Amino acid sequence: MTSTATDLSTSTDRDLITARHLINGEWLGEAVTERTNPARPGELAALSPSGSAADVDAAITAAAAAQPGWAAVPAPSRGTILIEAGNLLIERQTAIAEDLVREEGKSLAEAKGEVKRASDVLRFFGSLGWAATGEVLPSGLPDTTITTRREPLGVVALITPWNFPIAIPAWKAAPALISGNTVVIKPAELTPLSATHLARALQDAGLPAGVFNVVHGKGRVVGDALARDPRIAGLSFTGSTTVGLGLQEILNARRARVQLEMGGKNGVLVLDDADPAKAAQVVAAGAFGLTGQACTATSRVYVTPGIKEEFLAALTAEAASYTAGDGLGRDGQPGARMGAVVSTQQFEQDQAAVRSAVERGATLLHGAYDGDPSGALFFPAAVLTDLALDDPAVTEEIFGPVVAVLEVADYEAGLAAINNSRYGLTAGICTDSLALATDFAARAQAGVVKVNRPTAGLDLNVPFGGVKDSSTNTFREQGRSALDFYTWGKTVYTGV
Ligand code: NAD
Repeated sequence: MTSTATDLSTSTDRDLITARHLINGEWLGEAVTERTNPARPGELAALSPSGSAADVDAAITAAAAAQPGWAAVPAPSRGTILIEAGNLLIERQTAIAEDLVREEGKSLAEAKGEVKRASDVLRFFGSLGWAATGEVLPSGLPDTTITTRREPLGVVALITPWNFPIAIPAWKAAPALISGNTVVIKPAELTPLSATHLARALQDAGLPAGVFNVVHGKGRVVGDALARDPRIAGLSFTGSTTVGLGLQEILNARRARVQLEMGGKNGVLVLDDADPAKAAQVVAAGAFGLTGQACTATSRVYVTPGIKEEFLAALTAEAASYTAGDGLGRDGQPGARMGAVVSTQQFEQDQAAVRSAVERGATLLHGAYDGDPSGALFFPAAVLTDLALDDPAVTEEIFGPVVAVLEVADYEAGLAAINNSRYGLTAGICTDSLALATDFAARAQAGVVKVNRPTAGLDLNVPFGGVKDSSTNTFREQGRSALDFYTWGKTVYTGV
């Protein structure tokens, strides 16, 4: 079924919240999957199609046909389209952010910030269309020049999660497109509208048909078909470790390039010499910002004995200030500081994690896990303490606004605890000691280290990725280094 594209109005009229596949410049697919607003039980937030292997085939066929033409467009002209798409996202920022809140649950301020990030990412990579990417090297041969070039992979697949539903698609698509690749993206089922807004901005900015294609649907159908298609030269995935490692096997079997950004269990070490109030702000921002649903969120804190009591008191007060509620506000009231949990499944996972920790003897200093009587998915910020170092609340990813605080004897014990994890995405330390901060930066097993700053939140121009089970730890995302994944190197000898 062919239809018009998703309208950008903020209305929740069914027609206006309907996402479609974008295949070869056409908006297609019968919207059969309903997504309800996690903050307003029963309110429809989005409708989307459930794609099939045939839809994936059509999208890859379109992307493959469009790729040589797109790669032949001068890079600065490719960049102009990305910059224009970024400008359009800013023009539409509020409307897009409101759709994002309805389908994902975060606060309006966070959603606006995310749309701004997607816009900035498009403009950053757009500007790189003017940047040289090769080297000129001396040759041992006479009258010979050696240059290096970066070539696009071809057609790339992007599989993205719900927690940054427009920023992650943008930070994968922008480096792919500026490098001359064409794209097929499968957004998360829970958040089809946000990716649709990105696609619409790219289309309205003049991106040729077939260069950026979207297929909505189930991971094990659409995502799996994308991963298995031999025309896909590279796949960039963000999501859970289990799904990511399964995709890696598929891509490795045919030696296609794969980039995985997966789970985290990010720790912060708070030392006696830190300011307890500032440390509590840093930890709370990392743990409860974005409803704790960030791969970089703080979820375990190790604290030395001299600061423990003051820090816990300050953190409990901070937790109370992260009131959970409707990100869009209600009855004329402004939106809550902390939005709703994304889904009933995630809510139950958060509840179970806190409840079972308490059953094992942990103390819950702030939070409750009974749920909101309205059925809205509001989960109060939870602070747990008195846990064993190997408690599941300390070792397993929860992906909610839950933080576990444990005492450690000293810096070395804290560093060892931070590193004793299967994950290694971000790690933080709160201290006034430059020497210990420097030592921590060198020895923490994490792709990103933060000193006196929240573990969550990165600038768009810096490399991002993890080690261990958090990442493939080969190609980094974001910043100029993101271009490496989407290109391959060629060495050229020119004799005269
Ligand atoms: P998920 O793994 O369930 O889904 C991610 C994407 O993969 C979705 O689009 C989904 O439809 C698709 N998918 C699911 N099964 C698939 C399959 N068999 N084959 C192909 N694709 C499949 O993750 P989620 O619940 O959407 O997101 C939460 C997870 O993402 C958390 O573990 C979090 O840590 C992680 N995450 C990591 C980062 C990072 O940069 N490291 C960023 C955000 C989220």
